[in-house]
Amino acid sequence: MMQLAQPLNFFGFVYREIKQALVDMETMFSLLRVPAEVTDQPDAPAMQVKEGRVTFEEVHFHYQPEREILKGVSFEIPPGRKLAVVGASGAGKSTLSRLLFRFYDVTGGTIRIDGQDIREVSQDSLRAAIGIVPQDTVLFNDTLGYNIAYGRPDCSRADVERAAAIAQLDRFVTSLPEGYDTQVGERGLKLSGGEKQRVAIARMVLKEPAILIFDEATSALDSQTEQEILKSLNEVSRARTTLVIAHRLSTVVDADEIVVLDAGRVAERGNHSDLLARDGLYAAMWWRQQKQSEAAQEGTEPPLSDD
Ligand code: ATP
Repeated sequence: MMQLAQPLNFFGFVYREIKQALVDMETMFSLLRVPAEVTDQPDAPAMQVKEGRVTFEEVHFHYQPEREILKGVSFEIPPGRKLAVVGASGAGKSTLSRLLFRFYDVTGGTIRIDGQDIREVSQDSLRAAIGIVPQDTVLFNDTLGYNIAYGRPDCSRADVERAAAIAQLDRFVTSLPEGYDTQVGERGLKLSGGEKQRVAIARMVLKEPAILIFDEATSALDSQTEQEILKSLNEVSRARTTLVIAHRLSTVVDADEIVVLDAGRVAERGNHSDLLARDGLYAAMWWRQQKQSEAAQEGTEPPLSDD
């Protein structure tokens, strides 16, 4: 019996490892979500990032030809500045970040980084220049340290600790008995949405991209977690060109420019006080969210949604 049990154990082990490898691969592909049609031109040169200026020029886009999502969107993010995009659910905000990372090609208009059309440079060089903190960060079934260092496997433990401190993750890690060696993901500790976003922010600290995209989580976070995430985001986005896809207007108050997207078009633009004074869509969203969060604090209403 023992003789039979051992090979069975072995096959069980191999089966589990293969299954896990497939899960990791799937995670990786869902993370990258790169459609097959986005390809490099033959001999596409590497992108040269000089200052990190991002320009959307009359950008059009559809996932399906019969339904245009972006209908001529233009804006520029000067080097080191922060531009926030707000608007109702489905307005096309996250689509902008997918296009900048070139998950898809625009169907009209152009996106440029320092004057270079992003379709004309190699995807590797484009993606090396951009860091994304996505809405829902996918963790690998490995240690917390590995997950923070993901993309920079050569970095030292000291680098990981520095990144975690900037991302305000260090106190959480030191509270865990196994610290950075704690297993996370499917087979380990499940992190909260806010903790996962901070892992993504720590990754950005290590990657040091010239351009940063922050796709704010849709789910309501408690206000302390929200403040901690904003603080760590501000640390990492300092002096980097930053595109924020925002669901909560409290995130955008300090942005250099706010673009209000409505059904695929830019409806308003300006900074927070300009837009409040304008008393249009943004002002209406702002007052609605203020009322909702006051009601939520008084316990009379559930926390606000984004639209
Ligand atoms: P939210 O605030 O809810 O995240 P959003 O403004 O970021 O919304 P997008 O995610 O950019 O909106 O989506 C814009 C529209 O495009 C939506 O109507 C959505 O259903 C549609 N859409 C998004 N991804 C796809 C896809 N892969 N295929 C087809 N349609 C899509």
